[in-house]
Amino acid sequence: MILPVWSRRRQRVARLRTEHPHTSEVLAFYDDILSLQQALYAKAVKSRWLGAVEAVDGRAPRLRLDRLPERSRDRDFSRFVRAVPASATDVLRAMAERLMTEPAAMSALLSAVLAREPVDAVAARVGCDPAALEFFPRAFVQPVAEALASQTDLDVSGNHDESGDDTVAGNDDARAACPCCGAAPVAAVLRDEPEIKGRRTLLCSLCLTEWTYPRTRCPACGEERADKRPHHVSESWPHVRVEECGSCRTYIKAIDLRAVGLAVPVVDELASVELDLWAAEQGLSKLRTNLLGM
Ligand SMILES: [Zn+2]
Ligand SMILES: [Zn+2]
Repeated sequence: MILPVWSRRRQRVARLRTEHPHTSEVLAFYDDILSLQQALYAKAVKSRWLGAVEAVDGRAPRLRLDRLPERSRDRDFSRFVRAVPASATDVLRAMAERLMTEPAAMSALLSAVLAREPVDAVAARVGCDPAALEFFPRAFVQPVAEALASQTDLDVSGNHDESGDDTVAGNDDARAACPCCGAAPVAAVLRDEPEIKGRRTLLCSLCLTEWTYPRTRCPACGEERADKRPHHVSESWPHVRVEECGSCRTYIKAIDLRAVGLAVPVVDELASVELDLWAAEQGLSKLRTNLLGM
């Protein structure tokens, strides 16, 4: 059975490939990855991994992904790396081959991402670019984390506060971190809800949990002054705005579901790569890159 969320993502990929032909190649690859991720998600839902990683001390984040059982996670990760599709770039395929010959490095790579630590040491060991190398563990962990997140009862709605002035979740870090898994957000999402017009949520780069976040606040540094928070919209992606922070010079893309209700934030964020290129030209750095390192 194909879960609706996965078919929605893949339908959206197909649609955007038609509407934005220049993204076709990268989206073909993403579609192959979604197919692998979908299988991992189904497996993780049926696994007993939640019992191993769910924190019961009440402190954020709820999921301590570094506690995933090492042997089974390494086995599944190795299968995932081996299954790298033909649509992948030469660089990624070469990296996969390199990793397959170094199981210890592969395990260390996964451990680093699960512990939210840099992968530089492993990258140096296998002679790969750290940013590109991160693709494998992130693409693997994402559906597992999403499956486990869907099984927790964490309330990320923020419904108790209509102004949205309260972040859910008890991390005292100034940066916005996912209350469920602790990762940084990859995008913001805007939608109208019965009680709150234009609610802004942040979308986790790892478990894809969304949590309510104040409308104008910079998730990197907390800046809220309107004159420091311009946003930019292009004609080709009218529902994806680049939210700039004039204080810390970072940006995050916001997917406006009020403009295009059929958009799927994780897909539209990844497909609108030209906005990332534009932002880079302006000297802005992204709060958190997406799966493809953009
Ligand atoms: Zn998360
Ligand atoms: Zn900022």
